[in-house]
Amino acid sequence: MPKLRTYKLLKTEFCTEPYVKKFLSRKQRSSIARIRCGTLPLEVERGRYRNIPADRRICKVCNSNVTEDEIHFLFLCNRYSVRRNELRRELTSVNFDSPEETLKELLISNPKTLANFIIDCLRIRQDVI
Ligand SMILES: [Zn+2]
Repeated sequence: MPKLRTYKLLKTEFCTEPYVKKFLSRKQRSSIARIRCGTLPLEVERGRYRNIPADRRICKVCNSNVTEDEIHFLFLCNRYSVRRNELRRELTSVNFDSPEETLKELLISNPKTLANFIIDCLRIRQDVI
């Protein structure tokens, strides 16, 4: 299922996810679950409901003309670059070179920081759209 694109990327073992055990608020847990399951209100998901072809589910908050999926939202969209730079400064030990690997690492090592980043970016996104 295309909807589970990120989940498939991340879920390699059948076990309780580490983020579930860490102390996270309901909102933080929800943001992590939604990025994993592909249910954040990004164009890649919203377009599914409106029968828009996958390659036309373009990010509306930047001018890159690419699909707004989880990787674009978290690591590439220039709309969130200021907030993303704060994240990088906060997590100096994390390697940000490969988005997929970085997402996996953040989910394991820094779920709370990742959750706050997602929440902040969604707020920025909401103000733009
Ligand atoms: Zn964008």
